[in-house]
Amino acid sequence: MAKGIWVFAEQYNGKIKNVAFELLTAGRKIADETGEELAAVLFGQDAEALADILGEYGADKVYLADDDKLAQYTTDAYAKVLADLIKEHCPSTVLIGCTVLGRDLAARVAQKVETGLMSDCTGVEMEDGQLVFIRPIYSGKAFVRAFCPEARPVMATVRPNVITADPPQAGRAAEVVKVAANLGEQDLRQVIKEVLLQVSTRPELTEANIVVSGGRGMKGPENFKMLEELADVLGAAVGASRAAVDAGWVGHSYQVGQTGTTVRPKLYIACGIHGAVQHLAGMQSSDIIVAINKNPEAPIFKVATYGLVGDVLEILPEMIRQLKGVKV
Ligand code: FAD
Repeated sequence: MAKGIWVFAEQYNGKIKNVAFELLTAGRKIADETGEELAAVLFGQDAEALADILGEYGADKVYLADDDKLAQYTTDAYAKVLADLIKEHCPSTVLIGCTVLGRDLAARVAQKVETGLMSDCTGVEMEDGQLVFIRPIYSGKAFVRAFCPEARPVMATVRPNVITADPPQAGRAAEVVKVAANLGEQDLRQVIKEVLLQVSTRPELTEANIVVSGGRGMKGPENFKMLEELADVLGAAVGASRAAVDAGWVGHSYQVGQTGTTVRPKLYIACGIHGAVQHLAGMQSSDIIVAINKNPEAPIFKVATYGLVGDVLEILPEMIRQLKGVKV
């Protein structure tokens, strides 16, 4: 019988992605209710030190595949090792973050282990002893609650920042099980020869503690430079509303909201953003929301902790000037 809740712990350059901690929090609740074990699966090279962190976030066990062939993500290598592990241990559930890597990996693994995949979930919860996944449909116009009565393992990708991660428990340890990668030349059709990093000192949108976002009220792409300047003063990431993305001012990777990225920073600064429900869906769980809008009736003010009514193009330069003064 399939048993065990598994979380794929995505890491990059020796840092575990926050979504892994969020999934461990969800996984812990499921495991406690079903009486199963919660295991994290960690791949990489020299990644052993990271296993302890996963224990502190709730994992009972960590399956660690430490191999130079897993140093960089390739679909072939990661999918083979994860699928082999699933076939050997038969977990009931496998949760993977809905990141660029996670989306690619989960689909391939689901095919290899001949199961289905609940993709792009915005929630995972137990209901009457059944594991239920919440998924947006029709471009986010509606949500379904879906469950998998038969296929095992149940596999799902879950969006980052939709679950609040419990804080780590210092000293809580997981049993670390080292597993062999068993990768031959025939398994590696892709070889990473060089990684060209986009040079940016800004944090990733999903991981940032501060996000500065712009909407149609920014009037044009040239004014996004102001947002970038403010972001650099604050060590923040830059986001945008769909209107700004659809206008071609910034790329889709900037979009915050139901059909974009969900963010949950400590501080979200919404500049010239109206506050449509689809935008709020992606940012309203932020700890502190500052809204700048010239319309005092804009719905963004209903979720804002602090509101500034005025022209964003006049307020932003002053804000940057003042903050630079504070930093000096
Ligand atoms: P607007 O609605 O045009 O608002 C601009 C705001 O700027 C106004 O409130 C205005 O008062 C203010 N303003 C104008 N000039 C100034 C100024 N000089 N100074 C200060 N304030 C000013 N939207 C998203 O953002 N993310 C999504 O993921 C998303 N998904 C969607 C999915 C579906 C299925 C649908 C139907 C829509 C989706 N949308 C999404 C679109 C959403 O409904 C809104 O159209 C969009 O968020 C509006 O963007 P905006 O607030 O920038 O623009």
